[in-house]
Order: sequence, then C-alpha cells, then structure tokens
Amino acid sequence: VKRKPYVAGNWKMNLDRRAAVSLATAVRTGLQGDAAVDVAVFPPFVYLEEVVRAVAGSGVAVGAQDVCDQPSGAFTGEVSAAMLLDIGAKVAIVGHSERRHVYGESEELCGRKLRAALAVGLEVILCVGETIEERQSQRTEKVVASQLSKGLVGVPANQLSKVTLAYEPVWAIGTGLNATAAQASEVHGYLRGLLSGLYSPAAADAMRIQYGGSVKPENARELLTARDVDGALVGGASLKPESFLAIVRYR
Ligand code: PEP
Repeated sequence: VKRKPYVAGNWKMNLDRRAAVSLATAVRTGLQGDAAVDVAVFPPFVYLEEVVRAVAGSGVAVGAQDVCDQPSGAFTGEVSAAMLLDIGAKVAIVGHSERRHVYGESEELCGRKLRAALAVGLEVILCVGETIEERQSQRTEKVVASQLSKGLVGVPANQLSKVTLAYEPVWAIGTGLNATAAQASEVHGYLRGLLSGLYSPAAADAMRIQYGGSVKPENARELLTARDVDGALVGGASLKPESFLAIVRYR
C-alpha cells in the first residue's frame, strides 16, 4: 500500500506565547494548499489552544507532547485526554524518550497513556527507540519489541489506524547525529514485521512509521525516502518555519 507521509514537529519546552503563535502561523501559511503530506505540531500544553486557533481550518493538526493515563480525578499536574480533545487537540505523543528516560515512564505507563488517548478518540504517536548502550550490546530489537508490544497492549485491530509509530533512537535525538537511512530502514522493517505478527500483514502494511532523531533539511530526503520510513518526528528543526517546511517538502 501507499502510506501518506506524516511529518510532526515536537516543540518540546520551547518558545513563548508569541513565538508559538507566530511559528504556527508561518507553518500554516507555508503549507497553503499542500496536502501531499500530513503535518502536525506539538506545542507546550499551555499554548495548545492558541495554536489550535492559529491553524484552524488549515489541515495542520495540533497535538500534545504527553497525556495522562487516567481519565480524571486527583492527579495533580496532569492533563487528561478528554481535556486535550476538548480544546481541539487531535493527537498525543506517548512514550517520547524524554518521558521514558528523563521522567522514568515505564512501558506499562506508556501503554495506559496510549489506551487513555484512544478511548476518547485522540490519535497517538507512540515513540520507541534504543539507547546507545542498548545498540552497542545488540539489544535494539529486544528493546523496541518490548516498547511496541507493551505500548499496544489491549489495542484492538480496529483502533490501529489511529496509531502512528515513531522510531527514535535515543542516541540520535538532539545530538545532530542522525541514524543512517539503512539503520532506520532496518529497524522500521523489523517493527513492521512485529506488527504483522501482533495484528496482520495488512495492518502492518498500513501503519505509518516515522523516523525521529536529528532530522533536518539536509538529511530529510535521504531518510524520508528510505524503505519503510513514512515521515518524521522532528524536534530541533521544527522550531524554525523554514527548516520545518523544508523537511515537509523533502521530495
Ligand atoms: C524528538 O525529540 O522527537 C527529536 C527527534 O528531536 P531532534 O529532532 O531535535 O533530534
């Protein structure tokens, strides 16, 4: 099948209100009429609503960088999936390496977050990826397999179209050192094989798998045209409209 490329910008904990609205507006303006690639931006929680307003009607989706695993209640500091949907977010990132490795989120917690997001009708980008130590000790496949299967626990086949995977090797995130196209294709192909076993060959074939880790205009074409790579999750280079738009127009 032909999978539509999907490029997402993870703004992390950057920008202020003005800069967030201005970046969103520039992305919207720059994309006018270009529907060849699905595009989403992930501002900090507090700027979500304003960014939703800034891109309204443009086809640019807005998502949250994280989501609570619980539906409501005494969870100080958390934001629920229903709240995100309520303010116009369409997607949530689950299991970003900074959540897993800086804030200690377990695979089980990521699974609960993913299910909580799907339960209200949000889409999800589920991130998986190995550290440099894990790669050097030949544990990449074991690590991403565990992150994938625990992340998708309890997700029925009919919900899978709401999920995008992002392969983000931890050693490539924010380091300027991207994986090669061959390294990305190898892991993406492995993930697709796992999905085929967990669900079906057709479901695996339909799943989009983004690559993330130091994607920039200079390497976007090579990475995004690699086998089994269906787009990108972009951190640093998503903070400048010129570089983000250049990645979206990688062709
Ligand atoms: C990310 O955080 O998802 C990411 C890929 O970051 P960067 O593009 O800055 O490496």
